[in-house]
Amino acid sequence: MAYYEIVILGFVSLVFNVLLTLYVLIKISRIKELTKLVHNLNRSLEEMDEQAKLIVRTDIELNKAQTELDKKIAGLYTLQMLSRAITTTLEETKIFNMLEPKRLEEMGFEKALAFLWSEQEKKFVLSLNIGFEPATTQTILSRLDIDIFLRLIEEGKTISSFSIEEEALKESIDNIFGMKSYVIAPILPKHGNKGLLFVGTDSPDMVLTEGDEELITILANQLGQALENARLFEQTWRAQQELEEKVKQRTAELASALEQIKIISKRKSDFISAVSHELRTPLTSIKGFAAILLAEKLGALPPAVKERLEKINRHSDELVRMVNDLLDIARIESGKTVMKIEPQDLKSIIATVSDLIAVQCKNKNIELTQVVPQDLPLVLADKSQIERVFINLLGNAVKFTPQNGRITISARGKNGFVEVEVADTGIGIPEESLPSIFEEFYRVDNEINQQVKGSGLGLSLVKNIVEAHKGRISAKSKLNEGSTFSFTLPIAK
Ligand code: ADP
Repeated sequence: MAYYEIVILGFVSLVFNVLLTLYVLIKISRIKELTKLVHNLNRSLEEMDEQAKLIVRTDIELNKAQTELDKKIAGLYTLQMLSRAITTTLEETKIFNMLEPKRLEEMGFEKALAFLWSEQEKKFVLSLNIGFEPATTQTILSRLDIDIFLRLIEEGKTISSFSIEEEALKESIDNIFGMKSYVIAPILPKHGNKGLLFVGTDSPDMVLTEGDEELITILANQLGQALENARLFEQTWRAQQELEEKVKQRTAELASALEQIKIISKRKSDFISAVSHELRTPLTSIKGFAAILLAEKLGALPPAVKERLEKINRHSDELVRMVNDLLDIARIESGKTVMKIEPQDLKSIIATVSDLIAVQCKNKNIELTQVVPQDLPLVLADKSQIERVFINLLGNAVKFTPQNGRITISARGKNGFVEVEVADTGIGIPEESLPSIFEEFYRVDNEINQQVKGSGLGLSLVKNIVEAHKGRISAKSKLNEGSTFSFTLPIAK
């Protein structure tokens, strides 16, 4: 082989080796890269595995929380329904019946007991039992450590198998009720017997939480509130019953008093009527004899005797008038006087009585005015009786109004009635006398009454006549300024 061939071969082999080395180096670096990649992949896989585990764990937790939440929502819903029923129940005995076994189950418990402390009997009295055998209940009640349970009420705290800290207390409660999970909450009405609500379950699925404690605390609060409401309702109801009883009693008393008044009033009318009748006969003969003597038919009379006989005659006239007025009042009061009620034109009645009184007004220079509208409606009245009303009122107005005064008669329609007013500018009536002036024989002690005779019967008669027409009469007055008498009469339809 030629030298150059060896050189070329050597050169080619060198190049080949270099290339091979290069190739191997490249492969080694690639392998390294791949190894790193595999390592990284492994790490990612591990991380993913971790994350998957975490996701599963979180899912379990979430599921648990969801179940817990569902339980709470169901419990709250039940509680809301119960609360509505409990707080609207106003009978103490029915309040605990609202807590039905089904509702209790919805809150996760199967047994319940409620017992209230009776201060009178010095013992716990059972108000509710769900799920316990009656015999067991009796055992539980007999085993209750009064001091411990009264302390629980006093502290007003809710305890549960999940939160209880005092070992001794837990042991005692476990012994008494013999249940796995339970909550005991105080029932605290503001007044009346306080107590405790026990709810429990033996279900292995039950995991008590603070939420359960809260739920049962709210339920016990609602029970306490309902007991208070029932007590207040009972109190109010009893007070109302008493009040009704009193009202009934008073009404009966008033009715009997009214009956009594009616009897007395009738007796009075009968008495006045009888006396007046009895008085009338002798009065008539006194008047008759006086008249015979005055006529001097039995012989001439000395002037002094004549004068006294005239006095007898005048006084007898007054007495006859008085007796007649008394008789009229008694008859109207007892309904014996039959009123001839007919549609009447008050305008013409007012005109007639004004004419009658005009002379007396003129004598005292009193101005008499009528303010009566042309279209004044007709009234239902007994003409002659209403004329008596006017004569009496106008007679008084003239009597108690000094010289140069004014008397006004006015009338107007008002709410189905015609209202008539007789107003004067006279001496007036003292305020304290106003309520009495319509009473029989009442006269104000004033200068005019001391000089002018009167019976005190006129206004009483007027009132009786107006009221017999289903009208009303009243008086207003100001001392030394004048008086106004108003009365109403029904409008004729
Ligand atoms: P008499 O006029 O006979 O006294 P009445 O029953 O008519 O009786 O009146 C009772 C009393 O009411 C009168 O005595 C008088 O004191 C008072 N009185 C009535 N009308 C008037 C009046 N227009 N002004 C002042 N006082 C009056």
